[in-house]
Amino acid sequence: MQKQCAQCSAGFEFSDSDRNLLNKMTPVFDGKDFPIPEPTMCFNCRLQRRLAFYNTRNLYKRECSKTGKNIISMYSPDKKMNIYEKDEWFSDNWSPLDFGRDFDFTRPFFEQWEELRKCTPLPSLSLMTYNQNTEYANDAYKMKNCYMIFDGEEAEDCYYGQTFIYNKNCTDFLHIEHCELCYECTHCYSCYHVFYSQFCHNCRDSYFLRDCIGCKDCFGCANLHQKQYCIFNEQKTREEYDKFIQNFTTSSHAEITKYKNQSKRFFLNHPVKKSRCVQNIDSKGDNLNRSKDSAYCFDCNDMQDSRYCTNCLMGGKDNMDVHIWGGGMELCYDSCCIGERTRNILGCLYVYEGCNNVYYSLFCTRSCNNLFGCIGMIHQNYCILNKQYTPEEYHKLVAKIVEHMKDTEEWGEFFPTKISAFGYNESVADVYFPLKKEEVLERGWQWSDYKSPVVVEKIIDAEQLPDDNTDIPDDVCNWAIRCEITKKPFVIIKQELDFYRFHKLPIPRRHPDQRHKDRFAFTNPFKIFDRKCSNCQKSIQTSYSPERPETVFCEECYLNEVY
Ligand SMILES: [Zn+2]
Ligand SMILES: [Zn+2]
Repeated sequence: MQKQCAQCSAGFEFSDSDRNLLNKMTPVFDGKDFPIPEPTMCFNCRLQRRLAFYNTRNLYKRECSKTGKNIISMYSPDKKMNIYEKDEWFSDNWSPLDFGRDFDFTRPFFEQWEELRKCTPLPSLSLMTYNQNTEYANDAYKMKNCYMIFDGEEAEDCYYGQTFIYNKNCTDFLHIEHCELCYECTHCYSCYHVFYSQFCHNCRDSYFLRDCIGCKDCFGCANLHQKQYCIFNEQKTREEYDKFIQNFTTSSHAEITKYKNQSKRFFLNHPVKKSRCVQNIDSKGDNLNRSKDSAYCFDCNDMQDSRYCTNCLMGGKDNMDVHIWGGGMELCYDSCCIGERTRNILGCLYVYEGCNNVYYSLFCTRSCNNLFGCIGMIHQNYCILNKQYTPEEYHKLVAKIVEHMKDTEEWGEFFPTKISAFGYNESVADVYFPLKKEEVLERGWQWSDYKSPVVVEKIIDAEQLPDDNTDIPDDVCNWAIRCEITKKPFVIIKQELDFYRFHKLPIPRRHPDQRHKDRFAFTNPFKIFDRKCSNCQKSIQTSYSPERPETVFCEECYLNEVY
């Protein structure tokens, strides 16, 4: 069925497969089915709404509302909220039930939920208890000695990265899996000692690669498989390659910039495959791997019978509209940061570790069951707006609330963007769907003007840094550098400086957020466009929009070209 998006007015398809999947998720309260209504917005607007509630990268210093200790938090200090340091939040020193309240049938649900959120303690960061020596991180699980890394599982000695699993000694990355000693890599898998590269698998000891598989000692190459000693796709002898590398001053910012630009131009002359998917059965999306019967899934692994999911690296079954995570997640809908054996979830954020039948809830973990509109629950059952009920009372009351929410047109919808705890510019929505301040305020959404103070000896312009890293003194860690693009000051930490020195790399001239945006520019939108194969003119579906400058090939033409 063709529908019109209530937000952007674009037409979107709500298919029989979408309906069947939503039917599978139908909750039962008090013995009665409550089917989830069809979405009123298109996939991208639904994603945008969800992501407006999700701040992963913007961290601030503030006080713990319980202990007064100075802590790091995703909530800026100007936000009047009850924010607890992680360990305090997980402790028995407080109870979320103390903030419980009755449901008021004369008012909309979301309004009452927002009031509960304003007073219930929330953890300062989304970090579970398994991290070591990793204070500056968010949405990260099983971290050791990491700094400024976000949305990932298992990493050691990693800095400034986002979306990852199982990495060691990597810095400045976006979506990498099983990588070691990599720098400035985006969408790289099982790579070792690879720099400034995108979309590579099983490569090592290389610079500036795109879409290469199993290559080593290569420089500035695209679409190569199992090659060694290639420079800009030309086969060289070992001696020629070694000579070239000896003359390549890796520590010079000017030289790195020259090759970055040269490889970017060079890559435009080499086709890209319509989508980068590996080992899927009857599935469509982009950067979707080892999945079955899944559609419109992007940057996901091991998905089954799922639709419109994004960044679910740990897999799941029968999910729709979930951004982030997996790990045995089933029957979850319109939610964000959901994982670890979690089932039957609707309209939730940060619900994980064995939670079942949880609706419209925030930060609920450790085997919570049957929660509706709850916040900050650890191992609780049968609660509504943080108030405890018996199973019978719970079912009767939820059935009545859902009937009420049908009348207020809230049932099946995610929370409205205007009640997010974050400014739009702090949220992940701003990265995927950037908007200007005026546009955000015009829509009735929020904007954050809070700026963290930078306490340093001095601030120097990026342009004043010596070109070669070997000329950078140790005390650079006591200064702030003013980003060459955004002019925002940023600092270099000692471990990071050691990484650049060890690999003979120039120190960055751009703020970590700008570097993240630069890497993000290598990725495609979570959209599928109809266009023609640039070679055989066959109709293809691809995440490359028709206006883009890349030469896009269908699967067959691409394979003929590269093998
Ligand atoms: Zn839309
Ligand atoms: Zn073709």
